Parts: sequence; C-alpha cells; structure tokens
Amino acid sequence: MPQFAPNSWEARADDNVMYGFTDLPSLHARGPVVLTHGTGINVHDVHGRSYLDANSGLWNMVAGFDHKGLAEAAKAQYDRFPGYHAFFGRLSDKTVELSEKLVEVSPFESGKVFFTNSGSEANDTMVKMLWFINTVMGRPEKRKIITRFNAYHGVTAVSASMTAKPYNQWFGLPLADFVHVECPHYWREGQPGESEAAFVARLAASLESRILAEGPETIAGFFAEPVMGAGGVIVPPMAYFPAVQAVLRKYDIPLISDEVICGFGRTGTVWGCESFGFQPDAIISSKNLTAGYFPMGAVILGPKLAAELMEASEKIEEFVHGFTASGNPVGCAVALKAIDVILNEGLIDNVRALAPQFRARMDALLEMPNIGEARGIGLMGALEAVKDKDTKTPFGPEVSVSERIANRCTDNGLICRPLGQAIVLCPPFIITPSEMDHMFDMLEKSLREVFAEVA
Ligand code: PMP
Repeated sequence: MPQFAPNSWEARADDNVMYGFTDLPSLHARGPVVLTHGTGINVHDVHGRSYLDANSGLWNMVAGFDHKGLAEAAKAQYDRFPGYHAFFGRLSDKTVELSEKLVEVSPFESGKVFFTNSGSEANDTMVKMLWFINTVMGRPEKRKIITRFNAYHGVTAVSASMTAKPYNQWFGLPLADFVHVECPHYWREGQPGESEAAFVARLAASLESRILAEGPETIAGFFAEPVMGAGGVIVPPMAYFPAVQAVLRKYDIPLISDEVICGFGRTGTVWGCESFGFQPDAIISSKNLTAGYFPMGAVILGPKLAAELMEASEKIEEFVHGFTASGNPVGCAVALKAIDVILNEGLIDNVRALAPQFRARMDALLEMPNIGEARGIGLMGALEAVKDKDTKTPFGPEVSVSERIANRCTDNGLICRPLGQAIVLCPPFIITPSEMDHMFDMLEKSLREVFAEVA
C-alpha cells in the first residue's frame, strides 16, 4: 500500500471513505483518483490531470459535466421551491409536469409515474407494486420475480436479489421468490454449432419450462434490461425479446423493461425496448433521466398495471409506499430540462450519427489477437479480452486483465471500466467525432501495452 503524504487527498480518502464496488488490491496499489470538476466529456483531478471519461461517470452524465442549462434549471428551482415530498395528496407543480412529460414520451398511451431517488429503489418499488396488487387482489402466492443471470438491477435487498451476480452469496442473497434464467449472450453461451435462431428458441423454451415448473400462478413479473449494462453490455439477438414476450403473454406475466441505462437514448432510440422490438408493461428509469445532475429514479406504469395498482390501492384506501424525496421539485425541474436537452438539443441524433464510427473503431480492435468479441449498439459497447481467441479461453484470474487495461487507460488519460474480462465504453452523448477518435486511440495504445505484457 503506497504511503500517501499526510493530509493529501489520497490519505484523507483512505482514512475516511468506505469504498463500494472498488477493487481494493488495485486501489491500495494506486490510490484513488480524486476529482474536482469536469468540462465537456473530461474530468479533472486534484493534481491537475485530465481524463476523457469514456463511461459518462456511471453511464449517466450524457450531456457532459458542465451543461449550463441543467445547472441553471436546478438553481432556478432551488430559488423557487427547493424541496417537497409527494405524500398526503400534496406535491409540487414540477412533479406533476414531469409525470405528464414521462407518460408523453413513454411508449404508453396512458400511464402513471412514481418517483424514487435511484434505479435500485425504482426496481424495488416496482416489485412491491406487483406484490401489493397481487396480495390485495387475493392472489398472495403470485410473488416470484424472474430475472436473467448476469443482470444488474441494483443493490437494495430486493433489487440485489434481482441482480443475478455471484457476489450475492456474500450477503446471503437472493431472498426467496427470486428466480434466475439464462443470459442471452450468444457469443459466450451459444452451444457449438448452434445458430442464433436456435439459441433464441432454446432460451425461450427454457423460460417456458421454468415458468411451468415454478407454476405460472406464482410468477409476478419478468424484469429485463434491453441490453444488460453492468453484466458486460450483453446485446441480445434481435429475435430474443419477441420470443420471450410471446412466452410471457401466454402466461399473463408482466414484462418490465429496466431502462436505467438504455432509457433516454443510449441505444439510439428513446427507449431500449424500441430498439429490440418489445412492448413492456412498465418501464424503470433513472440515470439519464436527469443526465446525472440529480439523484432520481422513476417507475412508469403502462395502462394495465396503472389500472391494477389504482384498483388495489383504492380497495385499501392508499398505496402505502413512498420516499421523503420522491418527486423532489429540484429533481423534477432538472429531469424536465434533461429530457428537453436529450430530445431537443440533438443528443439522441448525435448518438445515432456517431454510432457507425463507434462501431467501426470497435470492430477495428477486434483485429487484435486478444480481443475475442466487440459488442455494442448505439453508444454502448464492450471489448472482451481473451487469452485464446479461437477457443474463447479467458485470461487466468491472476492476470486481472481488464483491471490492468483500465488502470493503463487511466495512466494514459482515459477512464473506462473493467467488467469481468471486458472493457466497457459508453461515452457522453455530446462526444464529437474527433473526441471519439481520441478515445479509441488512447484505448488502443493501452490495449497494445497491456497485451504485450500479458499475452
Ligand atoms: N438497473 C440498471 C439496469 C442499472 O444499470 C443500475 C445501476 N447501474 C440500476 C438498476 C441501479 O441504479 P442505482 O445505482 O441508481 O440504484
């Protein structure tokens, strides 16, 4: 562990911060990067070093780090009405405006919106809504929630139970009633000689047999990210969601699209479900919802679930759920501005315009002997490092290949994230073509340096 100068930012961080989702051996060897501010798509640290943030913070800073309009929207609302809740039939005008806007931009003809402070809480809230509806309406056994292995839906006890990752074991999770099915990663999970169509048919058949084995009357809902983000940017085959949706419809199981990452443009359409051809019953939104300028999440219910939740709530007089800061007026003002910026200041247009360049530069890296797969859509992608490309054999865990690459990138002025043995790229939507080239040039240099050491 390096000795940091007394009272340095690094020493003060190490003394006082409990790090989450941080590789501690790597942190002890290198120290934290303590940031002071951002300009455009770059962030700057306490030592005056700058980094291009190829991960948009945590997928969310899609309008960059110094968007004046977003800061002004927050300031104006702080001056006007800085905080209020949404309990007891009292709520801010901005909460009403944002709810209306979200229903308008949703794929639903009508619906209802419930606000939270994060994506985890939004998934947690959606599960509680399904449990509430089923319990109040006299079907308490209809509680099981299906998600896919490798999915990421959050960290609260419920949303972590939906997050089907091996680290759940360290918390004694998942809770009862959470069922996990196959991950639609054809490159890794497809069987030898299996076509993509056969892979999709196998996963849909397997989902159906699992539903039958559990008992369809016990399943409350199926949650899925259109593209699994924190699972490693797993882009499903185009036929996957239509096949899954057909199975779910057969057994009357709601399909919830977790659009925390994909929503508001990441895949090149407003919603990821549009890119992948399915019609969800509800949408979970967060991150881009405020372009990262305020902590906020939202459940957007389509007409059927909205009607069911209203009926159940009226039956016992209220929906007994809510957070103090649900629908905070500053958050709502920021979200209204963020939606305007994303939809009307050309941000999604830029995602679409730059997606071919992003794809071409990813594909060029696939020429490297230690890159096994270059996957992505819109402005989200991942490069999978492999020891042997023909057999898709990963590097041994002792190599920590993706950590090494990410650390080398940081040394070279680029922030990107390791996930399993992949490196994730999801730049802000305001990125320019020359910044995109610069990002890939830095990445390519870092990859060449690390592969020369470990391959
Ligand atoms: N769902 C998805 C798809 C996510 O990617 C995330 C966060 N990365 C969450 C839910 C949880 O959101 P939060 O971190 O705001 O709780």
